[in-house]
Amino acid sequence: MKDPREAAGRGLEAFVYQLGYAADEQGNNVLDKFRAHDESIHLLESLSFKTPLVRANASQHLPATRSCSNIEEVISFCQSWQEYRDEYPYELDGMVVKVNSLELQERCGYTSHHPRWAMAFKFKARQATTRLRDVEFQVGKTGAVTPVAKLDPVPLAGVTVQNVSLHNEEFILSKDIRIGDQVLVERAGDVIPYIVKSLTELRDGSERPVDYPKNCPVCHSPLVKPEDEAVWRCENAACEAQVLARMIFHTSKAAMDIEGMGESTIERFYKLGWLHTIADLYRLDYEKVAQLDGFGPKSATNLRIAVEKAKENPVQRLLHSLSIHHLGQKAGKLLAAEIEHVLDLKEWDLERYQQIKDVGPVLARNVYNFFQNEQNVSLLLEMEALGVNMKQTSEDRKADVNTEGSLYGKSILFTGTLSQMTREEAEKRAATAGASIASGVSKHLNILVVGEKAGSKLKKAQALGSVEIWSEMEFIERTSN
Ligand SMILES: [Zn+2]
Repeated sequence: MKDPREAAGRGLEAFVYQLGYAADEQGNNVLDKFRAHDESIHLLESLSFKTPLVRANASQHLPATRSCSNIEEVISFCQSWQEYRDEYPYELDGMVVKVNSLELQERCGYTSHHPRWAMAFKFKARQATTRLRDVEFQVGKTGAVTPVAKLDPVPLAGVTVQNVSLHNEEFILSKDIRIGDQVLVERAGDVIPYIVKSLTELRDGSERPVDYPKNCPVCHSPLVKPEDEAVWRCENAACEAQVLARMIFHTSKAAMDIEGMGESTIERFYKLGWLHTIADLYRLDYEKVAQLDGFGPKSATNLRIAVEKAKENPVQRLLHSLSIHHLGQKAGKLLAAEIEHVLDLKEWDLERYQQIKDVGPVLARNVYNFFQNEQNVSLLLEMEALGVNMKQTSEDRKADVNTEGSLYGKSILFTGTLSQMTREEAEKRAATAGASIASGVSKHLNILVVGEKAGSKLKKAQALGSVEIWSEMEFIERTSN
């Protein structure tokens, strides 16, 4: 919550289940004496923290954590919770099984992502039955038309479900989903709900098949289904639904990241006739913006600052923001590393694209087609004239220097406080030198750079014995040209 008073009013609770550091009055490390994970939970409990030792329910005698002496006990404890979870006042999606002995934890070690001594046990997905009232068709930024089931609202695993994607025509046909059907909806954890099946035995004859549109529901141009694809598309690039979806994507965090230019603002500006193409996002009249209800001079200024900032973005972001089908963040980076100016791509033939490792024929064709289109080229020229950066930046060049960098092929991790640079700067420097940034200490880690007050990561790396341990100065020297 942005407002801390609002958060305070929610009565939030935290259950603490792990201790990173604990010292006694003399400053001695308390955790060193522990042999088992649950000892630290008992210590937290004795210090009056809320811990998982709390009983879920006095009459049930079901604690939220328990140390089991064999796997049968583990299974039966998980099952008890699976049965009890509906009565528990918190939404649960499963349990975590951990090795209790700290010595065994150490021996289990870590993968590059997670400890090997802890594993999630997920409860069975929750299901509910409800009626499919209707199917609506939405047009996405690349023109893909997606059917969305409109359901009688039904509570399921902590949320009310009423809109569920049906993916494509094949999904509807293969499951024989009809309007009016009772359908089984499933949702596991925080996963997007989906329709498992229609309950055909409950049909009364009033159900009707889903009428798949032949024309775009927004601009009415005929839909096309490319042979190798599952979805129908509206191929009218000027289709209002697509134009809006592309603008919304263009300003989103993953693309140009223009704060304050979200879906509702774009829709509003569009309705006012201020936006026709993405270039218009860079020529807003902020005096007019300031006069809008709910804006005012301050919000208008903030928006202008966010737009000006986005103009400086590296071209990898710009490429990603253009909604070229299959051109994601990664492809944006790959292409950005190869060009001095975005419009260099106008001169590229299909073969040139495929000289880049990881650029396949479909992506190559899509990008090629985009830059052969005069309208797209003039759109980019227009944006450049409005100040949007089209030239390769140092961030774009990164992928280029990689293979020749002094740390090429090495994985690196930083721990503790660095004195000469921020963690982010250090990671950038390492990446420029060709290193990949690791997510944790494991046997795959090559280099650990240790700043001040390094803790458990240093210990773990020392225990592994295979990790090179560098000081910050050493890191700076080894990455200087
Ligand atoms: Zn359309």
